[in-house]
Amino acid sequence: MKEAKELLLKEAHAVAFDFDGVIHKYSEGWKDGSIYDDYNWKVLDLMLILQVSKIPVFILSTREPEQIKEWWDKQPFAISCEIIPDDCKFWNKTNTVGITNRKLPAQVYVDDRAYKYTGQTPQQFLIDFTDK
Ligand SMILES: [Mg+2]
Repeated sequence: MKEAKELLLKEAHAVAFDFDGVIHKYSEGWKDGSIYDDYNWKVLDLMLILQVSKIPVFILSTREPEQIKEWWDKQPFAISCEIIPDDCKFWNKTNTVGITNRKLPAQVYVDDRAYKYTGQTPQQFLIDFTDK
């Protein structure tokens, strides 16, 4: 019999999601700043699974949070969202998705442009961005 695997994410510690290129497909880049593309349902499913697992989820984007909320509320999503107040230091709600443009603490940041830093030297960084 297979041993049950334990999820390495911690309950009550948030996971942050970037908006453009992660939730919003963003196939043509920034363009005029509008939210013009489809959403990525795989990411929406993931957010729901995390919430059910007692892991808070928030969106971290340089966009104005109001723009994302207005868009979100027009989508057929099973989960609601709310703008995280300026005085909030930690996002810990699991019944709604937070939206902010401030970098709040998270156990992981899901971002299409992230580079995972694990102590690389300058040389290694440059090699990682060099044509192989
Ligand atoms: Mg992005």
